[in-house]
Amino acid sequence: MKRYFSDLFVGGKSLVDGLVVTTKALFQPIVTVQYPREEIDITPNFRGHIDLILDPEKNTFRCIACGMCERSCPSECIQVKGKKVEGKKKKTLALFKLDFTKCSLCGTCVEICPTQALEFSNEYNLAAFSKEAFHYDILKRLEERII
Ligand code: SF4
Ligand code: SF4
Repeated sequence: MKRYFSDLFVGGKSLVDGLVVTTKALFQPIVTVQYPREEIDITPNFRGHIDLILDPEKNTFRCIACGMCERSCPSECIQVKGKKVEGKKKKTLALFKLDFTKCSLCGTCVEICPTQALEFSNEYNLAAFSKEAFHYDILKRLEERII
């Protein structure tokens, strides 16, 4: 009989404890969102894949196709090519590709760029069925933003 009442007390206490926790949670601010219908603001320090920065004054890229990012990338996932344009002394960017499957988001390319032409994007919801889908044409992405 004593055991019966002891179990009853423990069970009742545990029920009350649970209800206290649930009631407290009811009045706390909601931190979850209904993804994908709702999305949260990404923090400024978030590192998505790298992107070329659009120079707002010239409405084009700042990259001078020096290749320093390509050479310094420890994962060898950047491919940069420049081309000579008639009438211009310096070459211009012709290709900028990234194999995001290899990128470790180390930031070396962003830091080393002499013209501050690279930044991390805030894209976090990336999903695909093939590795090739993560091979990005970064120059094309920028050109789409210019148009
Ligand atoms: S992004 Fe910067 S480091 Fe890379 S090729 Fe262009 S200018 Fe050079
Ligand atoms: S963040 Fe690091 S690994 Fe990724 S492309 Fe830049 S240098 Fe390479």
